[in-house]
Amino acid sequence: MKKTKDMLSPDGTRPVKQEFPKRNHISEYPTGPGFTAGHLAEINAGWRVFKPIIDIEKCIGCYKCYMVCPDGVIFKTGEKAVAVDYDYCKGCGVCAHECPVKAITMIKDERD
Ligand code: SF4
Ligand code: SF4
Repeated sequence: MKKTKDMLSPDGTRPVKQEFPKRNHISEYPTGPGFTAGHLAEINAGWRVFKPIIDIEKCIGCYKCYMVCPDGVIFKTGEKAVAVDYDYCKGCGVCAHECPVKAITMIKDERD
């Protein structure tokens, strides 16, 4: 991206803080350097202790969980619907913490 005058300090040496307009929907966010779920070469969730369960009845389709998941493992499954790729979810709980309607519950992952 080309730097314009208003993106730099008066002496032109430093970037200045930019306003980030409020967005209402995922479609209004700029495309970032992200990948779809499952982009990692190997399954990396073997050490997870908890896993998120999404209650689709409660979900309002805001896609906040989709945006905040640090591993990009929540994906859209249709209009107002999301799912978790458990092969890559590390069970951090960020999605559950950020869900505005508490549609995500972290439960103990019972694997052998
Ligand atoms: S628990 Fe963490 S890694 Fe798993 S889906 Fe939620 S935010 Fe992503
Ligand atoms: S943050 Fe909650 S309400 Fe929003 S899409 Fe995810 S599960 Fe649904």
